Amino acid sequence: MPKLIILGTSNAIPDEAHENTHMVLVGETRTILVDCVSNQILRLQKAGVDFHDLSDLILTHFHPDHVSGVPQLLMNMWLMGRRRPLNIYGLHYTLDRMEDLMGFYGWADWPDFFPVAFYRLPAQEMVTVLEFDEMSISASPVQHMIPAIGLRIEFKQKDKVLAYSCDTEPCAQVIRLAAGADVLIHEAAGAFTGHSSAAQAGDIARQAEVGALYLIHYPTGPFAVGDPVREAQTRFDGPVVLSEDLMALEF
Ligand SMILES: [Zn+2]
Repeated sequence: MPKLIILGTSNAIPDEAHENTHMVLVGETRTILVDCVSNQILRLQKAGVDFHDLSDLILTHFHPDHVSGVPQLLMNMWLMGRRRPLNIYGLHYTLDRMEDLMGFYGWADWPDFFPVAFYRLPAQEMVTVLEFDEMSISASPVQHMIPAIGLRIEFKQKDKVLAYSCDTEPCAQVIRLAAGADVLIHEAAGAFTGHSSAAQAGDIARQAEVGALYLIHYPTGPFAVGDPVREAQTRFDGPVVLSEDLMALEF
């Protein structure tokens, strides 16, 4: 049964129990990482996912707390003898910078490097990212400080839908992206430019008429404030869950 494992839940400043926000979709035939921080050999081991199964990587936006693990991911795959291609999806803005970053590491000169295919997504709503027998994944631009995408994942066998806001202010694109979803994972970093509070995430969940709201990318450790679940519940009647690292949702 396909599942989503939340690999990190913190905003940009993590603590011991909360890594930066990223997640992995585990299907029968594909294992899809959504953003990449820390070292995925260690992180996926903790999540019980085989590092070698990674088939695809979706990058939501080019902020360090979402993509800083990519160079090490690629280097580790290479050192462990990977031969099969890795597909990387993201906006032009994101992938241009990722290629530049890898250029600084001189990756063109790493001998016998495995194929990496970059799929540049147009900045349009509900663009198909990846479609296969188990899932259909689409992306829409959201409202962050730099170009960023949220995701809608349809699990075909069970007819279930998961949406992920990514880093964003409250915006109509997320309401459309999450419309009628069984689960909306929405950021709750706070009511700053380019971000949303837990209460605002609740507003979006209500307007999108989702089944359940999972809060993510929230302040942790010494920066934790208030009770995000209660704040979201003032705006949304359905179940609200504070995502925790290594939580798994089956679809
Ligand atoms: Zn960001």
